[in-house]
Amino acid sequence: MDVGLWGNALQSSPRAPRPDQAAPSSVTWLLTLECNRRCPYCFYQIIPVRPETGRWPRDAALKGPTAAERIAEMGRIGVADLYLTGGEPMLRPDIGSIIAQASSHGIRVHMVSKFHMHALQAEALADAGLHHITISLDDLRPAEGKRLTGASNYPAEALASIEACLAAGLDLEVNAVVTSLNADGLGSLADRLEDIGCRKLSISAMQTPHFRSSHAKGLEPQADLRPLMDRLLAGASGTMAIDFGAAGGNDKAKPCGATLVCEVGRRSLHILPNGDATRCHYMPKRPDLVIGSLLTHSILDIWRSDTFERWRRPERSMFAGTGCANCGGFDGCNSRGRCVASAFLEAGQANAPDAFCGAS
Ligand code: SF4
Ligand code: SF4
Repeated sequence: MDVGLWGNALQSSPRAPRPDQAAPSSVTWLLTLECNRRCPYCFYQIIPVRPETGRWPRDAALKGPTAAERIAEMGRIGVADLYLTGGEPMLRPDIGSIIAQASSHGIRVHMVSKFHMHALQAEALADAGLHHITISLDDLRPAEGKRLTGASNYPAEALASIEACLAAGLDLEVNAVVTSLNADGLGSLADRLEDIGCRKLSISAMQTPHFRSSHAKGLEPQADLRPLMDRLLAGASGTMAIDFGAAGGNDKAKPCGATLVCEVGRRSLHILPNGDATRCHYMPKRPDLVIGSLLTHSILDIWRSDTFERWRRPERSMFAGTGCANCGGFDGCNSRGRCVASAFLEAGQANAPDAFCGAS
């Protein structure tokens, strides 16, 4: 499960481009593509499953001693943040162990989940050292919950999970995706979250998945979201921070060249469930984006590989026939990092103008 594509890129944007690092300072690990939810806006073609205790996700090949060694390497090379996502990370029976290992190496572990968590599970996550958890909840109403997650009892389950995590002392944030279905329910959602002690609500506008999911059709919010945001802020009592992130970011063109767009290869490494390091974890089915396998290579081997270097500093000839081939901004775009996922969406290939292109 994930909340958005360009939204994540925009969260990186306040930083200015910086020289490539000798090692990644953050790692995003897609633990499995299996998921027990059916969110129409998901960026992944998930593997649908029912939650079963102890069942190992079929795609989760980076595990056991190899995973432990890669986590230890993260600690040695100075990775500061590990972001665990999916699919549903809680479907991995070793989730507590992964968090505990990373925490023991001084890494801050963050997780995104839509799992129905009981008190003991939340306490186990806290005991393992989980630094931050994001739980997604878009609407309190059962009918909207069914459309947005596949289960009418999802809102009740999510509220229970949120309360369990808060009681366990976890640093928690709720993320709500705005669609055409739930914009009118966000006020009630914010009020309820504030009542149960939530301290942060992030709101992001739905983006269309890059594989053009038919389930997502018609769900993108059409209206200007600013008036809604202003109303929410005006109604907030001040005990819960409301962050709109990229909620207004449905416009395609973003300023180009001045700010970091894609961190992958600059400061961040993305890992797929099978252990492949990829140029973009939002496109896990594309073998042409794979840089190398962590089942057979260390993080630093992959980080310093020629393959990664070609993604960081591609030849102009690789962009033949596109607007980038003769563009004066070519080097700047390589420095700010290209969003290959949006280039695929727009042009059907990675080496093409992306959603942040300022030339058009
Ligand atoms: S065409 Fe757009 S994306 Fe390509 S190099 Fe120029 S500014 Fe960058
Ligand atoms: S290419 Fe980079 S900026 Fe674009 S979606 Fe993937 S990780 Fe995000």
